[in-house]
Amino acid sequence: MVNQEQLQKILQELNAQKVQLVAVSKTKPIAAIQQIYDTGHKVFGENRVQELVQKYEKLPKDIEWHLIGHLQTNKVKYIAPFVHLIHSIDSVRLLKEVNKQAAKQNRTINCLLEVHIATENTKHGFEETSLKTCLVANELMTLENVQVIGLMGMASFTNNQAQVRAEFKKLHTLFKAVKPLMPHPKKFTELSMGMSGDYKIAVEEGSTMVRVGSLLFGNRT
Ligand SMILES: *Cc1c(COP(=O)(O)O)cnc(C)c1O
Repeated sequence: MVNQEQLQKILQELNAQKVQLVAVSKTKPIAAIQQIYDTGHKVFGENRVQELVQKYEKLPKDIEWHLIGHLQTNKVKYIAPFVHLIHSIDSVRLLKEVNKQAAKQNRTINCLLEVHIATENTKHGFEETSLKTCLVANELMTLENVQVIGLMGMASFTNNQAQVRAEFKKLHTLFKAVKPLMPHPKKFTELSMGMSGDYKIAVEEGSTMVRVGSLLFGNRT
């Protein structure tokens, strides 16, 4: 179940650095989320649309729900009414669909562009060069119901801390390089990187938002 002591420790650590905690509750029961909610923490992340919608319906409505996992265009409509931040925009086509569904809801949806920084080719995300190309081509300019507020990335699954650090550093460098190319550079402020195993390194490398699951909720089986 929930490790309350760990939660308070991480929150203290992150608050001191002004880093946001997204408590990743995927596969975990409603009761576990409620336990964390009851301590006052209201920011949770899920990686699957169906699970996110079910949990949204059952839990208090002031939770800020983040979608952190791969999103298919045909599922955007289910989360558009309520999602607070989508971390996993990996194509312009997907961003356009979010824009369209957000418009139907009369909302502006905050989004992060996911960048592929790991060596494994299984992880989703823009390649650095294709991201720059689409920004230079101004492909995001006409989208009025989405706000791109930053980047997200996942480091390689490895024990090599130097490699993980180098990947986070690369993402931070890219973040600074693309900021001036964004439609609203002043609103481009978030760098979502760091999970249970590497969030400390991520914070040292400039993360503003960490996505921590197993450290708070216990291992997923
Ligand atoms: C599951 C998941 C996390 C959290 O992983 P932990 O190792 O449990 O902290 C973070 N980000 C994404 C995209 C995930 O899918």
